[in-house]
Amino acid sequence: MGTENEYAHLFNIQKEYFHSVLKKERIFARKERLIKIKKWVKKNQHEIQAALYNDFQKSPEEVLISEIKPVIGEISQALKHIRSWNKEKKVSTPISLLGTKAKIVKEAKGVCLVIAPWNFPFMLAIGPVISAIAAGNTVVLKPSEMTPHTEKLINRLIKELFLEANIAVVTGGVKETQELLALPWNHIFFTGSPQVGKIVMEKASKHLTSVTLELGGRNPVIITKNTNLRSTAKKLIWGKFFNNGQSCVSPNYLLVDEQVKKHLIEELKFEFVTAYGNYPEEIKKNKSLARVVNNHHFKRVNQLLQKSINDGAKVVFGNNTDNETNYISPTLLDEVTIENSIFTEEIFGPILPIISYKQIDEAIEIINKVEPALALYIFSTSNKVQNYIIQNTSAGTTVINDTTIQFAHPNLPFGGVGLSGMGKAHGYYGFLEFTNQRSVLKQRNRFTTSKLIYPKYNALKKMIIKLITWNDI
Ligand code: NAD
Repeated sequence: MGTENEYAHLFNIQKEYFHSVLKKERIFARKERLIKIKKWVKKNQHEIQAALYNDFQKSPEEVLISEIKPVIGEISQALKHIRSWNKEKKVSTPISLLGTKAKIVKEAKGVCLVIAPWNFPFMLAIGPVISAIAAGNTVVLKPSEMTPHTEKLINRLIKELFLEANIAVVTGGVKETQELLALPWNHIFFTGSPQVGKIVMEKASKHLTSVTLELGGRNPVIITKNTNLRSTAKKLIWGKFFNNGQSCVSPNYLLVDEQVKKHLIEELKFEFVTAYGNYPEEIKKNKSLARVVNNHHFKRVNQLLQKSINDGAKVVFGNNTDNETNYISPTLLDEVTIENSIFTEEIFGPILPIISYKQIDEAIEIINKVEPALALYIFSTSNKVQNYIIQNTSAGTTVINDTTIQFAHPNLPFGGVGLSGMGKAHGYYGFLEFTNQRSVLKQRNRFTTSKLIYPKYNALKKMIIKLITWNDI
């Protein structure tokens, strides 16, 4: 927390540091910063796990898989490629610019703001900071206020390792974030909801600041009749209930071929019991299940669930709730229609609705009714069907025969399209978001071919211009 003036001061000292230190230093210094974070994360692994457990009972195993490993992976990837990512790239010369030389120089954007959400509060805060460091920027990081233990730990990490002029943390909520957003950043990297994404973009437009918006989405899963239902069910139970369904790439609803729906439901029940237990008390005590992050979100998800049941959805399993501990048991809903309120929102909680379809075009029509999702999942053994679905839909990312794992691929750009976001994260693509690809063209000093087309347009010049343009017109 701080005042508007303190934020403006922080911005100014970072600007000064960027120009006087970062602009002049070598790639090695960026590597050193990344190595420092890597060492800190390894050393403080148990503290990170404890913070996440205290925030929403996230299991230590899930913290390792989805908070610690991706951060270490992102650093290792950057360390391995930082020199080639930052390398100048020579480009070929067209005949019309004969005699010139051209290249693309990778230049840091400058003073950057990173705003993080609560659902993977460590990884989604530190991940973009790694990209920003690899590109040579200063960073002000605003972690989520919804996960206070992790927020505190992130603050400690940054304070222990970096000068405030280089990388700083600002804690707080809406008020603090809006004050930060009033400053003329060189780039803003925001991860969160589409509603707040719009606010970020509006504020950024005041200074024409570039933005990366990693937003949410209602991710559909198509399950065709040509798939191994046991294996599909296992993957779906994991993908949906990981982080208690509070993941931007979590399946939002299933579109299932009606011929296999009954069988799939049996398999989902079996796989759920295998992973989480049979009886309500047993499931509630299962240490692998995180809680809904806070009571505000508990109420939101529970209201959505109860309204959906009132709208006609049938509970296959789940619907056990506890307001005191923000607990909603993983719930499978059958007989959901597109009129049901649960279809119209990003659930962001442990509820999985099933909608059935007769023809694949019906499923495609349902998907295309709304803005493109962050992720679209296809379960089918047929290449023809997979390609047909991809060709007739749009999504930020797509996985065939699995869910969620695209996030872990270091060489794939991660991000949305339309309402699910703009710009990309991870590896080289994350680095590019924080980089200005500056084009540098070098002309010769005296005679240049370009001079042949300068006025005055006498007969000779007219002929030359005709000759130059003749192929194009
Ligand atoms: P959120 O948009 O409510 O909050 C994100 C950040 O914005 C927080 O730091 C918060 O302090 C700040 N904020 C909240 N309201 C604000 C306002 N009115 N003005 C300015 N700043 C404000 O999102 P959340 O609830 O933390 O996270 C859940 C959302 O994030 C979901 O929609 C989810 O799909 C999305 N998400 C997307 C990705 C991705 O990579 N695409 C990853 C994780 C989460």
